[in-house]
Amino acid sequence: MFEFNSRIAVGVSGGKDSLNLLHALIEIEDRFPKVELIAISIDEGVKGYRDEALRLTEEACARLGVECLILSFRELFGFTLDEIIDKTVNVKLTPCSHCGILRRRALNEAAKKVDADRLATAHNLDDMAQTVLLNLMRGDLRRLLTLHPRGNDLKGFVRRVKPFSKVPERESTLYSYLKGIEFQCISCPYSDKTMRTDIRRFLNRMEAKHPGIKFVIYRKGLTITHQTNTAEPSSQCSICGEPTRRNKCRVCQILGELS
Ligand code: SF4
Repeated sequence: MFEFNSRIAVGVSGGKDSLNLLHALIEIEDRFPKVELIAISIDEGVKGYRDEALRLTEEACARLGVECLILSFRELFGFTLDEIIDKTVNVKLTPCSHCGILRRRALNEAAKKVDADRLATAHNLDDMAQTVLLNLMRGDLRRLLTLHPRGNDLKGFVRRVKPFSKVPERESTLYSYLKGIEFQCISCPYSDKTMRTDIRRFLNRMEAKHPGIKFVIYRKGLTITHQTNTAEPSSQCSICGEPTRRNKCRVCQILGELS
């Protein structure tokens, strides 16, 4: 996933997985003096939720001596997520769909801003298995391509890697407690409105009955990605110029729909 001299932007949300990733990468970094780590954090603008996460992120970075860049949706897109959800007329998209599209762009912008050549995110095994089922249920095989833990070199994107893709969420939680890492425990107020939450509950029940099922689903998802055409975005958005497969990228579609 990394080179001996990578400049790694670590996406840190203030939750357990991303803070664990930062701690784990710092331990590994000691053995690779040319590697550089920078934390990047996105403030989506969710009232009563994101403030605590950002505080925990900044405190952890200060303790660990890691530079931290925070970018907000308001700064980048002119609106907070709360405002976007209030204003949006596109009822087909859930709050998490809006958030996911805009946050992917925001993380890429932040990683470019700090001149990183890798963007490490803390998706764990549970996230990966959920993503496989979610995209299969939506019939969106192309989105499965983002599953690969080593990422792809796509023009206009900092390469995304997922070092925790085989780490079950329960082990990640255990690591936080063993290391005494303070993390945000409350969930985002929008999280219950998403299909991912239903799939998470379903997979947890399945895993309890059939241990190893999450790993099997993830492995099968990877097999599908290997067999799928991996054509990269071939054109640029006619509005913002970012790479996309469409005439207008999804970020500009969302921003265009705000009244
Ligand atoms: S739960 Fe949904 S809206 Fe909340 S931060 Fe996560 S993706 Fe965004």
